[in-house]
Amino acid sequence: MNLILLGPPGAGKGTQAKRLEERHGLIQLSTGDMLRAERASSSPLGKKVQAVIDSGQLVSDEIMVDLIASRIDRLPKGKGFILDGFPRTQPQAEALDAMLGRKGLKLDLVIEMRVDEAALIDRIAGRFSCATCGASYHDIHNRPRQDGVCDICGGRDFARRPDDRPGTIKARLNTYRELTAPILPYYRAKGVLRTVDGMAPIEQVAAQIEAILETQGAASNG
Ligand code: AMP
Repeated sequence: MNLILLGPPGAGKGTQAKRLEERHGLIQLSTGDMLRAERASSSPLGKKVQAVIDSGQLVSDEIMVDLIASRIDRLPKGKGFILDGFPRTQPQAEALDAMLGRKGLKLDLVIEMRVDEAALIDRIAGRFSCATCGASYHDIHNRPRQDGVCDICGGRDFARRPDDRPGTIKARLNTYRELTAPILPYYRAKGVLRTVDGMAPIEQVAAQIEAILETQGAASNG
């Protein structure tokens, strides 16, 4: 099963992608995480994209398509993937189709996580993650069970993304509206688009996604 989670920043794509990894053995391909890793290692690519990420704009299609192609090439045979943060533009969506076609892979589902934009600023501004294992948390909606200690790895260092500041969040939401949301009709026309209510609590969103995967599984088995 190969799928895309599509939605604005703060819709919960990363959180749901991690659950799908655990539950279904799929591999999360998060382009944001890839770029942050490049940046943390001060690679030439990391240096090149730093200012773009911090301003809430998009990195060029060419760079992103190359980056994702190299990851898809390295996927273990037979493993499905969840794309989180890619594609974000129409040229990226078309390049993905061409790439998958060349590799004989199929895109099974695009799950749109629909959210109320007004709520997103609060959601994003409150989020933080474990600096050791990357587990994500939120000041209000998803706190660690014990304050200051990661539920997953016991780490005590937490980090906030520099682009999660209110000013940059607005720019990222505009970018989503102008460049990414317009690719939804492309996937609707292909018959692979499903929508979940991303405003629901994390568990309920996960249940909606499971229900979609079950229908999909039943359809492809019979
Ligand atoms: P994310 O973690 O998905 O919110 O991504 C963080 C930032 O990385 C975005 O605001 C963009 O600057 C950049 N980025 C991630 N994925 C893409 C993509 N597919 N195309 C262009 N820029 C991207």
